[in-house]
Amino acid sequence: MHCPFCRHSDSRVIDSRTSDDGLSIRRRRQCPQCGGRFTTVETASLNVIKRSGVIEPFSREKVMSGVRKACQGRPVTEGDLAVLAQTVEESIRQTGTSQLDANEIGLAILQPLRELDEVAYLRFASVYQAFDSLEDFEAAIAQLRLDHPRARGERAAASILE
Ligand SMILES: [Zn+2]
Repeated sequence: MHCPFCRHSDSRVIDSRTSDDGLSIRRRRQCPQCGGRFTTVETASLNVIKRSGVIEPFSREKVMSGVRKACQGRPVTEGDLAVLAQTVEESIRQTGTSQLDANEIGLAILQPLRELDEVAYLRFASVYQAFDSLEDFEAAIAQLRLDHPRARGERAAASILE
């Protein structure tokens, strides 16, 4: 790989370590010509097969832009979206797959989005799972209530105390 400072065509690896999650390797490199030091990160390639059949590299930015629409008007920051996109990528990489359908990314988004913001989750799920009636929303909301009724009660109590 070319030196980013002087474009010299070679570099020497001076340190190499695996990330804590074991999903990437960081290499510290030094240019033998200008002495400049830089870091490269090596990960397994991860590709997405779009509905059209086109294959493109997985992009956290695309996950963020898809979720951002569902989060309009909600108390969700860009930082929250970045963390969510990272969570989605890590959960996909943990499965050991190198290629997946765009559809499966939608599926991987649902759980972390639900933990982030339930309204955004319902909006996203309604598009992704093609809700076409009020009953679909009612069923999804009933499921949310069923999964953590206690947390909801505690939150209500906390807002009364504020
Ligand atoms: Zn250089």
